[in-house]
Amino acid sequence: CGVFGVVGITEASNFVALGLHALQHRGQEAGGIVTYDSHTGFNQARRMGLVRDNFTSADMMALLPGQIGIGHVRYSTAGHKGQTAIRDVQPFFGEFSMGGAAIAHNGNITNAVALRRELIERGSIFQSSSDSECIIHLMARSMGRTIPDRMEEALRKVEGAFSVVAMTQSKLVGCRDPLGVRPLVLGKLGDGWVLSSETCALDIVGADFVREIEPGEMVVISAEEGVQSHYPFRRAKSRFCIFEHVYFSRPDSILGGRSVYETREAIGRELAKEAPVDADLVCPVPDSGTPAAIGFSLESGIPYAMGIIRNQYMGRTFIEPSEQIRNMGVRLKLNVNRALIRGKRVILVDDSVVRGTTSQKIKEMILEAGAAEVHFRIASPPTQWPCFYGVDTPEREKLLAATMTEDEMRDHLGVDSLKFISLDGLYRAVGEARGRDATSPQYCDACFSGDYPVAPSDMIERGFIT
Ligand code: 5GP
Ligand code: SF4
Ligand code: MG
Repeated sequence: CGVFGVVGITEASNFVALGLHALQHRGQEAGGIVTYDSHTGFNQARRMGLVRDNFTSADMMALLPGQIGIGHVRYSTAGHKGQTAIRDVQPFFGEFSMGGAAIAHNGNITNAVALRRELIERGSIFQSSSDSECIIHLMARSMGRTIPDRMEEALRKVEGAFSVVAMTQSKLVGCRDPLGVRPLVLGKLGDGWVLSSETCALDIVGADFVREIEPGEMVVISAEEGVQSHYPFRRAKSRFCIFEHVYFSRPDSILGGRSVYETREAIGRELAKEAPVDADLVCPVPDSGTPAAIGFSLESGIPYAMGIIRNQYMGRTFIEPSEQIRNMGVRLKLNVNRALIRGKRVILVDDSVVRGTTSQKIKEMILEAGAAEVHFRIASPPTQWPCFYGVDTPEREKLLAATMTEDEMRDHLGVDSLKFISLDGLYRAVGEARGRDATSPQYCDACFSGDYPVAPSDMIERGFIT
């Protein structure tokens, strides 16, 4: 998911819509915006589908007036796939004795089942099936005197990954979980302030990047008083999601002081060093494999070529929730550039293999087009474990790499070779010269290592994992 908020900015909703549009790659199922204006109070709009189709009309300002606003783009994670109902679309809103508040959440709450059960037993009435709604109910039960106080207390009970953007009538609030698993950045726009999942959305509204919100930090921002920062949680060593670098974030964003594009290019270079192969062309599986393919080409000296052309009007394959659509999706989205491929030994670079659907279809298409050899190089280690922190990976059994070795996957896909970057190679590419610190890893890499930095307690309770 993507979150975005502004305060102290005339026509806030237009800026929120623009920001969400730049974060659309983080979720395409639905979007919502809440604003506050002293004449009309809180106004809210939630819609299924893309930002550009829902939040660009001329009457936006009439619908969502005000100088403060937050928004959310949604993609559903484990458990709620394909059933996004409008009631699940964020931001969520609640009225408290001291006023209203809206909240938008990116991440996943790992103790949501237990929290929800407790809250319902004690009288909370949930409006949605979304885990994130727990935060509003926890706030309602808090005795805190201000809304930020209540949010702080609520978030102390929440486990897992969260980057939260919230608002009251006059204050914009941002918070990251103690490990800082999901990103959140602060920007300045004129006299106003911006919070965003990624820096690419600051660029689109013309805001200056100030800094990242730190892991475990909560910022309370108003136009008058600026940014107040505090640390509600016990300090922990940060474990940012390494997969944001590989795939999830946009290549024009800056993460942890590093350009995502450059990191991906470095991953490609590492791959070329770790798993070289003689071939005629290096082709990305667009778009997510493109920077890594460029890096592979630069390092190996093998020419880069656009052997697969992407239809820009299709979304991300894996964000299409149903399996049927996803299966078709690859062909709808990607086509082989036949004239280029015929008779060539081709290296295909993709960011990840999850179910193996994409690689399977691409291999078929590229052999049909007459390629002489097909070599897959993957810009992440084998995805062997599900993510419980807000990235939608399927159950373990459906992960190709959970049931097969690298060689078995190569034979299953019927390609000439298949290599994944090593975990250490990936760490080197994100700037850790000595690779992964096995005793205290610098990132969350649980989907590759099985080393979960926060116990997925709901899953343990339901007996899905031990
Ligand atoms: P597959 O087709 O193997 O199931 O998914 C791999 C493709 O989906 C890759 O091309 C990649 O760009 C995209 N993808 C990247 N990350 C994820 C993820 O976390 N989950 C899923 N399901 N797909 C992803
Ligand atoms: Fe990121 Fe993987 Fe950790 Fe999920 S499990 S937060 S995708 S590194
Ligand atoms: Mg892809």
